[in-house]
Amino acid sequence: MKRRRLLTVLSVIAILLALFDLALWLWPKKEAAPPAVVETADPLIKALSAENQQKFKENIYGSEEKALLADNNFIEANLEQYARYREFPAALRLRLVNDGIVNEQNKDLLLQIVQDPYYIYEKTAAYLSAEKDTVRERVEYVNAGRDKEAYVDVKEADLSKGILVNINKYYHFPEGYSPDDLVQIDAKYGLQSYLRREAYAAYEEMDAAATADGMRLLIVSAYRSYDKQVSLYNSYVANDGVEAADTYSARPGHSDHQTGLVVDVLSPTTDFSDFYQSPEAKWLAENAHKYGFIMRYPEGKDDVTGYEYEAWHFRYIGRETAAKVYESGLTYDEYYAYYIESRTNE
Ligand SMILES: [Zn+2]
Repeated sequence: MKRRRLLTVLSVIAILLALFDLALWLWPKKEAAPPAVVETADPLIKALSAENQQKFKENIYGSEEKALLADNNFIEANLEQYARYREFPAALRLRLVNDGIVNEQNKDLLLQIVQDPYYIYEKTAAYLSAEKDTVRERVEYVNAGRDKEAYVDVKEADLSKGILVNINKYYHFPEGYSPDDLVQIDAKYGLQSYLRREAYAAYEEMDAAATADGMRLLIVSAYRSYDKQVSLYNSYVANDGVEAADTYSARPGHSDHQTGLVVDVLSPTTDFSDFYQSPEAKWLAENAHKYGFIMRYPEGKDDVTGYEYEAWHFRYIGRETAAKVYESGLTYDEYYAYYIESRTNE
């Protein structure tokens, strides 16, 4: 029967088509790579609340959050906040959230602040409240301690730092301090004051090099005792008043000169008012670091050091550190805060 054969053939074709459809349907489908699903069987995730586990399953939390779980600073109650501030590096984010520092209002500014090369975590809140035009200025100002009240928020200087000790309007010497290795300066260098032995040897080398370059250096001030600073400061105050005196003279116990590591240097033909224009000033600015001395109060940094520009005031901190300070372009106050003091606290 022709018709029956035809029906059989058609049936077979229909079955084959159906099977082909089924095969297509069963064939693994190739799709775009799925989002990186975090393995929620991870024991650290399993240790979380059911609600948080669910958020990992739903991909509300992902690998960024998973990476935080093993950190000692991780606090589960803050997980939602961590996820909100993913722009911040993980370790920093944990601390900023845990300490309640970052919020929606400050996060854009904060994101810039944490990228400053001299950012110090402990000072974050102070950076945020310092009112300066640029982020660099905020960080610089706070690092130098200038957000504190001069001569009021004071601390004893850390003498364990030796020749690196920082003395300013916030750090003072302990009562009765004087260096125990002062040597008298030879009259050929100028005022027969005193310097600590190591600083004096370095000065002699520097003077020899300057002389070889045709310069003439003259020491007009070096070590000053606490008592000497008392009479000096008082006479400035009597003449100019406290406010003005504080811009150019240190209060007793706060003078860099009390370190015995400082020289005020002029040339024989200049005084304090015009020294900065002399070849000697230029020579010192460019070369003093090679002998371990740095310009302590650079031009344009009044707001950071708390002192007017002093082209003549050079502080000995040793060759190695002086070279680093010179290369960094930082004031010593900021260099000390970032490289010396904050490292001690770590
Ligand atoms: Zn000086």
